[in-house]
Amino acid sequence: MSFYLIIFVSIVTAAAAVAGAALTFMRGNVDLARAENDLASGALALQERTENVLQSIESVLRDVVSRIPSACLRTGKFEGFAASQATKAILVGASSSLPQVTRIDLVNARGRIVGSSNPFPINDPIYLTGASYYQALSTDPSLVLYLGEPMKIRATGKRVFSLARTIKDTEGNFLGIIVSTIDVSQIERVLEDRPITRTLAVTFYRRDGMILAHSPKSERVLGQKIWHPNTPLQRVIAKNTPTLIRDISWIDKRERVIALHPLANYPGGIAVSRAVADLVPGRHFEARLIRFIAYLMDIAIDAASVLGLQQVRTGILRAASESYLSRHDILTKLPNRHLFSEELKRTFLGSQQSGGAFALHFLDIDRFKDINENHGHGAGDEIIQTVARRLRERLRKSDFIARIGADEFAIIQRPVRDRQQIIDLVMAAQAAMKVPCTVITTEVDVGVSIGVAIAPSDGNTPPELMRAADTALYAAKTDPDSSYRLYDASVKDSRAERRALEASLRSALENGELELFYQPILDLPTNQIWGCEALVRWRHPTKGLISPLEFIPTAEESGLIGPIGDWILDEACSTALTWDLPLKVAINLSPMQFKRRDVLASVKKALALSGLPAHRLVLEITESVKLTGEATATLERLKTLGVSIALDDFGTGYASMSYLRSFAFDKIKIDQSFVRGITDSSDSRAIIKATIGLANDLRMSTTAEGVETEEQLNALRLAGASQAQGYFIAKPMPREAIAAFIASTQGPHQNSLSEQLSSRAIA
Ligand code: C2E
Ligand code: CA
Ligand code: CA
Repeated sequence: MSFYLIIFVSIVTAAAAVAGAALTFMRGNVDLARAENDLASGALALQERTENVLQSIESVLRDVVSRIPSACLRTGKFEGFAASQATKAILVGASSSLPQVTRIDLVNARGRIVGSSNPFPINDPIYLTGASYYQALSTDPSLVLYLGEPMKIRATGKRVFSLARTIKDTEGNFLGIIVSTIDVSQIERVLEDRPITRTLAVTFYRRDGMILAHSPKSERVLGQKIWHPNTPLQRVIAKNTPTLIRDISWIDKRERVIALHPLANYPGGIAVSRAVADLVPGRHFEARLIRFIAYLMDIAIDAASVLGLQQVRTGILRAASESYLSRHDILTKLPNRHLFSEELKRTFLGSQQSGGAFALHFLDIDRFKDINENHGHGAGDEIIQTVARRLRERLRKSDFIARIGADEFAIIQRPVRDRQQIIDLVMAAQAAMKVPCTVITTEVDVGVSIGVAIAPSDGNTPPELMRAADTALYAAKTDPDSSYRLYDASVKDSRAERRALEASLRSALENGELELFYQPILDLPTNQIWGCEALVRWRHPTKGLISPLEFIPTAEESGLIGPIGDWILDEACSTALTWDLPLKVAINLSPMQFKRRDVLASVKKALALSGLPAHRLVLEITESVKLTGEATATLERLKTLGVSIALDDFGTGYASMSYLRSFAFDKIKIDQSFVRGITDSSDSRAIIKATIGLANDLRMSTTAEGVETEEQLNALRLAGASQAQGYFIAKPMPREAIAAFIASTQGPHQNSLSEQLSSRAIA
């Protein structure tokens, strides 16, 4: 619950925090809001009318039952009563008093029809033991009323459904059923009685989602579920509260705004919906944006209903969502590093005022890289989620947990009385990992290392405290005897090692140990190579090839990224010029280059020195580049030169949406974590589809990264991605190899790439 509370509070604060921006945003959405209100009041009105119709039918059924003399409310007598001519007259009269009802039957406890409004005499006994209402009402004594599923009357071709009530004997035992058969088209007439608007759909559904009546008329949907399994619509219908949501309808495959209103006295409800595209003509982009956000906000919708909020209004969610996104990690739904720093500052201030102590725990999953390599990234993701859940369960309401890195978590334990309380939490966290994590069918042992710093004794400011916790964590990781450390002055400072790494990196640049690899990017519509991404490697004299993930952070911290970045630009531009084809070359820029370097000057120089035309250069930046006025101006100037700008690792960052709006990127690179899930995770698929749709609306192209299998490539083609990159197409390769690779895609007798891929990928 505390987790939900955190989310709830963050929605509320977020809503307030973005109020200014949201206002502008919402003002543009006045039409949409009005349309949503119309739908909601439509659902309410139709719910009342449907309720009235059902009530009038039910009261007639009750009336019939009330006319059974109590002497006849016994098994033998009831059948005699039901079969009498007098009863038939009552049934015929009752049935004809209701325009929606085609017949009323009395059924005995064994399921046999014993009386009917049907004018034809019953010759052979008819048993309704197979009917769902008989089965339900005869076996469940708590049920009094049942809505049966729609079916077709063979003789007339009419679609009907039934409303049935139990009849009890004088002792309260099940005696039989009275059942009315209702003409679906009559109910549909009720639903249709309203001004005609385009794409308006009205559905009367049973509590379990089964469609009993639908307007516009559609035979094929009757008896089907209104939702597809595992969709937001299914979840909200199950919750049975009046709600406004968005979902793609399986009936016409359109995205719709749906107002739901459950009936008050019957197990069913009314859904009124319109296609989003019609509600907001010309606001296609926003529709997609909202869909994307709504998807990501799903957890908050759940959280809100757990808290008993009856009406989840999309307006509030929309306002809150960007801020929510920017402060939470998508995988674990935990607060992210950004929110963590804010919270740490707040806690610090609080403890200064109160004089109380608190503890900062940094946790890191042991050998996470091995787990990823041995069991795959999907398994890695699952383990992160399991660890997050287990840690969260060990915390008090007042504590705070965030995911601050790929396999790193931070816990603010507050307040703390003494060291023992801190050690207790450390022990509890490690005990929580004793149970192996089950990933699909394999069990994986997961350990965490923990470093703890205590405020105020281990640090006078939040950064100092973080450094202390980091140092303690590093000591814990390198200590073979213990997996946790509390910071004290004797703990070895990991920064010493970093300084050593820095020194050797400096000489690496001077000695020419850095090298660029190139990974081809495939253009999907043409099946041709579109360009290559340059990826830096360190060819260490004794350690071999070192990954950029290991040394770029040090290069950034030490400022070495400046000269290294310039070298990468020069090297990549001049290499690209040697290729047989005028392909694009994509280069990664570090946020530190923006902060510390004149990127514009570096790029101009690289282009001038190499002679590479600007339009062949693509710069990739991630959301960690802060889009200040200055940074945006630099990007604009680069674009004016003819250089393209791509947004890398899209979907993993803090503020994807607001980021996209701040600058007109040429391209979005969809992060490999989503591509990995495209064939079997509907979440990843939804994100990819939404991202591609969004990119199309913004006239940006899309590159999907980390494509490792043919199925993924095919799925991406189907989803409409512009380009793909990944091991399935080709791994990153050295300068000579890429030149040969490009040459091999040319020429008639060569092993043409487009042929290879078309046979590989499209087969
Ligand atoms: P990135 O920009 O997202 O680069 C893509 C990474 O995914 C590369 O890792 C690439 O080798 C890897 N990759 C490509 N296809 C597949 C695949 O099918 N499956 C899997 N599992 N991985 C695939 P790499 O080369 O280790 O680079 C890692 C990161 O280091 C890059 O991520 C980028 O952020 C950074 N980086 C690399 N080169 C440079 C550079 O020259 N400058 C800067 N500033 N950063 C760089
Ligand atoms: Ca990249
Ligand atoms: Ca990337």
